[in-house]
Amino acid sequence: MINQNSKIYFDNNSSTAIAPEVLEAMNEVSKLPLNSSAIHHFGRMANNFINTAKQKISQLLNAGSYEIIFTATATEATNTAFFGNNFAEILIPQIEHLSVYNCRPKNCQITEILATENCQIDIDDFRKKIPSHKNFLASLMLANNETGVIQPAEEISQLTHQNFGLYHCDAVQAIGKIAVDLEKINADFVSITAHKINGPQGVGALLYRKGLDFNPLILGGKQQKSKRGGSLNIAGVVGFGVACELAQKRLDNFAKIKNLTKYLEDNLKKIAGNDIMIFGENQPRLANTCMFSLKNSDNQTQLINFDLNNIAVSAGSACSSGSINNSRILLAMKVPPEFLQGSIRVSLSTHNTQEEIDYFLQIFSQFYQRTKINGVFK
Ligand code: PLP
Repeated sequence: MINQNSKIYFDNNSSTAIAPEVLEAMNEVSKLPLNSSAIHHFGRMANNFINTAKQKISQLLNAGSYEIIFTATATEATNTAFFGNNFAEILIPQIEHLSVYNCRPKNCQITEILATENCQIDIDDFRKKIPSHKNFLASLMLANNETGVIQPAEEISQLTHQNFGLYHCDAVQAIGKIAVDLEKINADFVSITAHKINGPQGVGALLYRKGLDFNPLILGGKQQKSKRGGSLNIAGVVGFGVACELAQKRLDNFAKIKNLTKYLEDNLKKIAGNDIMIFGENQPRLANTCMFSLKNSDNQTQLINFDLNNIAVSAGSACSSGSINNSRILLAMKVPPEFLQGSIRVSLSTHNTQEEIDYFLQIFSQFYQRTKINGVFK
């Protein structure tokens, strides 16, 4: 029952609430003096915890032929892959998350790859821009954080390998939301993070194919086979493992969120007709993600209105540092100007209900009617 005190959270692509099972496991581990470099039995215990977490991550991603190093964030994992290899060139699609898009080592040529209007990588543009030399990395996310559109990772991986490059996959938004099979995708480097799947903040991981080598980004001790200096956040690592285990069990339930997303989108269209645009509508998409834009509207006003009504949503990359900029992603998709600034992203979890969606629709409808009276939708 929604009342004045209800807080509705529709921003799960941004971060998720930590699961009680994760918290419990982390609390237990936090009580112990664990350092994985120690020779004594607490050290061995630490390494057992780490190995168990790695197994759980590996199971979720079918990643038996990958090594795993833990990082603080997915951003750090991506930086490790991009900076650790002295690539002559890196291919970055325009629709990548900023953690990839801005990861530009000096003395490395960065080649941007165009996107389609449906928020997918433009494969023809990618083919055209594949370098003739072999020292390159191509990056492509598995699912876009704003629109949820799933990318042709396997195809890009194959094309990259046929041309002797390496392939990096940002799988942050995909894990726990769709079945991810790394053996099939055959990425060389993969970035993931715990806080998007009900795990703790501040723990990420870089997976890399066994046999690959790279220079560490963080220099120091010989932890993690000298690939990342510094003592490990073992409670966080344990939490990440438990979160992966829960995510795997939840995958079927997660897919069912599609019904709620469809219900939301059908009703948004009923309310606003041609004044609304749903991005990547007919593309393979994450079950929980709906990004739409209201014509000639600005997302700050909408965000504030939702917030005043206790609904947490996000504006995607259109909103940065409190100012309204055109969304880099929507620009890359060549969205018409009248839909560039009114974008709102709703990203659901398995805890959200139809009642919450109905309440969201009611608030949206009131906003739309008020805006319409002001003569915006000519
Ligand atoms: N990649 C994608 C697609 C994301 O959505 C995010 C977080 O929003 C990241 C990378 C960065 O993850 P982290 O916050 O762990 O650096």
